[in-house]
Amino acid sequence: SELKKVAIVGSGNWGSTIAKIVGSNVLSNPKFDKQVKLYVYEEIVDGKKLTEIINTQHENVKYLPGHKLPENVVAIPDVLEVAHDADVIIFVVPHQFMPNTCKPLIGKLKKDAFGVSLCKGFYINPKGDVDLISNMVRNLLGLECLVVMGANIASEVASGQFCEATIGSRNKSHGLLLKEVLQTDYFRIVVSEDVEVVEACGALKNIVAIGAGFCDGLNFGDNTKAAVIRLGLMEVMKFCDRFYQKHEHRTFFESCGVADLVTTCYGGRNRRVAEAYARCLGQKTIPELETELLNGQKLQGPEAAQEVNHLLRSKNMENDFPLLTAIHRICSGEQPVTSLIDNLRNHPEHL
Ligand code: NAD
Ligand code: 13P
Repeated sequence: SELKKVAIVGSGNWGSTIAKIVGSNVLSNPKFDKQVKLYVYEEIVDGKKLTEIINTQHENVKYLPGHKLPENVVAIPDVLEVAHDADVIIFVVPHQFMPNTCKPLIGKLKKDAFGVSLCKGFYINPKGDVDLISNMVRNLLGLECLVVMGANIASEVASGQFCEATIGSRNKSHGLLLKEVLQTDYFRIVVSEDVEVVEACGALKNIVAIGAGFCDGLNFGDNTKAAVIRLGLMEVMKFCDRFYQKHEHRTFFESCGVADLVTTCYGGRNRRVAEAYARCLGQKTIPELETELLNGQKLQGPEAAQEVNHLLRSKNMENDFPLLTAIHRICSGEQPVTSLIDNLRNHPEHL
């Protein structure tokens, strides 16, 4: 049968890391076409097109400096050219850019292709409903959509440090095929059928990480941060109970659950920018600090907090999720960062 083509849509910090893994895995697996097309949102870096830099130096010098990409990974600035003939399409752009990135692909993809979302966040559809990004892919592009989430700070994965990840797939054979695309001896993967919870865990933990960063910036110690992580986990679990009926408890203990929550609350970008926000005492906004500190990389937490708040407010459930709600209100400037812990003193967990 025909060789499977894998395409990657997105080439930021995590997208480039995934390109390094996928590019190398397809070379040693006879099932796959050797070329991996990589969609790059074109920009000029040091006077040159980023696609040209990647295709000549084999390094994404802006978003993943210091790591070579395999030469069979080809950077292309046109998303349709990347995805139109692919069998497996991996989406890994900051979630707020997914709708516009996907639009040129509507009705133009291979019939049997399937999608994979690595994007952490939610989607507010034109009717105003808050939905999972994978559902956006399913509905907009008519593709089956798997997800991959986990405790995966990109720079650590790119340098080959041992970690784990969770594939969410209800289709066994596609889950196992994707595992062949992604697993390496340092990137170990478990396939779960609990797709919605796997994805929701990844989207929600970035909000909690903002809370952890606020704690750091307010000079609270490890006990306080542990409380924020624990209360955050309880709210993540409650959110999944309320909105995703059928799921297994053990999913929260996969890499996509507790592990990603912990790593992001200690080592992530959301944590880092939130710490800076708490320290600057209102002198700068979160978007200003994002631009100043991340060199074009994007936060997912503040937008996810806003998306979740949109849902909670519409269901009159803000009081049931005091941490997620407080973090949204702090990010949007409705309340001061110093009020974070006051919001937690009477958490439903303590009553
Ligand atoms: P990133 O944070 O490095 O974002 C920069 C990327 O966004 C660049 O490729 C840039 O070209 C692109 N971009 C900027 N403006 C754009 C636009 N208008 N339209 C389309 N693209 C645009 O990206 P990332 O780290 O690869 O994150 C992608 C997803 O992967 C996110 O949802 C993130 O939560 C998730 N993720 C990231 C990490 C990590 O450690 N970086 C780990 C796991 C999951
Ligand atoms: P940040 O976006 O906060 O860096 O988190 C990265 C991540 O998702 C690790 O799994």
